[in-house]
Amino acid sequence: MDLNALIRDVPDFPKPGVLFKDITPLLADPKAFGYVVARMAAHYAKASLGAIAAAEARGFLFAAPLALELNLPLVPLRKPGKLPYKTHSFRYDLEYGSAELHMHIDGVAAGARVLLVDDVLATGGTMAAAGKLIEQAGGTVAGCAFLIELGFLGGRAHLPGYEVFSLLTY
Ligand code: AMP
Repeated sequence: MDLNALIRDVPDFPKPGVLFKDITPLLADPKAFGYVVARMAAHYAKASLGAIAAAEARGFLFAAPLALELNLPLVPLRKPGKLPYKTHSFRYDLEYGSAELHMHIDGVAAGARVLLVDDVLATGGTMAAAGKLIEQAGGTVAGCAFLIELGFLGGRAHLPGYEVFSLLTY
């Protein structure tokens, strides 16, 4: 299936110089969306996972159907002030300033093998922070799955020791 045709390049969004990979045409095509989830599910079917975690917002779009497909708990990782119960948190640096990810303290069981999911691997900063959060809670990162990897940004280098799976690489 030609997924490339369903990824729209939007130049200079959200700021000048960024070529944004817009996945909404793919989301609007149930066959293609289902194909992506099936490919991810097949790749991790025998990975002995304990949970699937994803950072808001677009990571949720793939993590939720994948968790149902693999019959696994879904763990949302969120920006500060969004989760209602007690949380673990991890602060990380961005190009300008910093950001923080939170997870409920009972989100991941100690020793659980957790798959992290996102739509795009860019610099890898978000996924590296998600991994730290899982490890802080006593889990281990079993892999990182992406629809798109922007290979020229070298994001994999920020995910050392993690298995990385991406369906499309640019
Ligand atoms: P990063 O932490 O740099 O790997 O960025 C990851 C997050 O930013 C992902 O959740 C993506 O949704 C989003 N992102 C970064 N760069 C792009 C891009 N060029 N097109 C679409 N989304 C992007």
